[in-house]
Amino acid sequence: MPNIFVLISMMTVVGCVVLMVYAIAKHAAEKSFFLIFLSIADLFFTFGSLLEISAPSLETAFYGIRVQYMGAPFIIPLTYLFIRDVYGEKRFSPRKLGLFFVIPLLCLFALQAFPLLRLHYADISYITNGYIANCQHTRGPMYLLGTAFNYMCIFLILRQILRRLRSGSKLQRQQSLVLLAGVMAPLIANVIYIFLGGEKMYDLTPLIFVVSVVAFMYAVLIQNLLNVIPLARVQVIDALEEAFFVCDNDFNFLDANRAARRLFPELNRLAPGESMQQVEHFKSEGEVYVPSDDEIRCYKATPTYIRQGEKNSGVCIVFRDITEEDRLLKNLHLQATVDPLMDIYNRGTFFELAGTILDSHEAKPFAFALLMIDVDHFKHVNDTYGHLCGDIALKSVAAIVKNHCRKDDVVGRYGGEEIVVLLRDTSAIQAFVTVEKLRKAIESTAISCRDNTISITISIGVAHSPAGNTHSLENMLNQADSALYQAKSSGRNHTCLYK
Ligand code: GH3
Ligand code: MG
Ligand code: MG
Repeated sequence: MPNIFVLISMMTVVGCVVLMVYAIAKHAAEKSFFLIFLSIADLFFTFGSLLEISAPSLETAFYGIRVQYMGAPFIIPLTYLFIRDVYGEKRFSPRKLGLFFVIPLLCLFALQAFPLLRLHYADISYITNGYIANCQHTRGPMYLLGTAFNYMCIFLILRQILRRLRSGSKLQRQQSLVLLAGVMAPLIANVIYIFLGGEKMYDLTPLIFVVSVVAFMYAVLIQNLLNVIPLARVQVIDALEEAFFVCDNDFNFLDANRAARRLFPELNRLAPGESMQQVEHFKSEGEVYVPSDDEIRCYKATPTYIRQGEKNSGVCIVFRDITEEDRLLKNLHLQATVDPLMDIYNRGTFFELAGTILDSHEAKPFAFALLMIDVDHFKHVNDTYGHLCGDIALKSVAAIVKNHCRKDDVVGRYGGEEIVVLLRDTSAIQAFVTVEKLRKAIESTAISCRDNTISITISIGVAHSPAGNTHSLENMLNQADSALYQAKSSGRNHTCLYK
């Protein structure tokens, strides 16, 4: 009958080779990096175990152990690093990575130096039952330190896995279950051997290790541990037109997709973990204007908080190009609020804005003046020069009116060739002076159209509401209207202040 233990060991070796070849073939997948080293470490360990259990003497059994230890101290630490990568945790810095492998390396050297140094094993002896051979050993200080370090790594691995079992996606939970089986099986065998094993106990950890290798092969080959999560995600994310980057809660940079690196080239100079405080204002939705070739494009920035259980573990900020939408909206807004001929507010918007400024039940500490402007004998202008010239004349009048007002004043087309203006913070005298200037400016402007020179005059009615009053748009409009009537009656090209 073939030796079942040797058979299992040989299967494990084959499994490790398959895993190693697969990991190397998939080396382009970022997350297969540590799997390559892990499968190589597994291979040394299982091949060494195979040598040990089939060894005819202490010398050959210890030779097997030497081979085992080329991989054994690194398996659990590498498993931890691989699992962190699988779950998308931040990579260790090279310095941290170096420190992380100090104890495993010391264990490796201490073992290879035996029997010159008895730091790892204090002593070894050979036992066999004719079926399976083992080196029995008395543990040295390095052995205990290595075991303690491995248990710490196992604790960290379990913490990662359990967190995903609780709050991961369905696929992640399934993968985590398989990984858990892979980690727990040799762990249980090892605990039994270390804590319960008697003098003549055979260490079955290398044999139970077949469960680990099968579990990892299942997760990688069947559950697409390497393919689905990292590769597909990276490709989809990089193919997106939307730019986005991810940072942690303290606004340290973590990751960015290709579109984001194109949009903000400075991201290419940032290393993961570097501060990007300048984007802190994107904590809430906002717009950002970015110059591109020969125009300025508008992006809407939307933050999405990354939840891990109850806590936020970072924020992903997505930038969507809304230049066309923005342009369309601005055009629509312009069309809805501005008169296209005169390029001043239309009647509705004037009422809305002036009403908001004036109408309130409280007394205001500012004085206001309301002007109602009407072009004199405009029908005559139309009849003499035609409507097109009439339009050009109206445009010029509106432009001159606008030029005589301040930024905060509200200028609107009241209807036909009538313009209304709300002057803010103005005494009656100041308003009168401004209006007279305006009237004279229009009177002295020669408007050219189709070889004609058109002269125009305007009449203006002014209503004034002093500071400390409650103001009313309706009252002021009525007053300005009756003042305008007076100005017209006085022969036109006049300014009248309502009394
Ligand atoms: P008055 O001095 O009494 O104001 O005489 P008026 O001829 O200006 O009389 P009124 O203000 O009643 O007439 C306004 C004229 O303005 C009537 C209309 O044909 C003309 N008008 C109104 N809107 C436009 C426009 O958008 N373009 C042109 N070309 N003419 C307009
Ligand atoms: Mg009129
Ligand atoms: Mg008129």
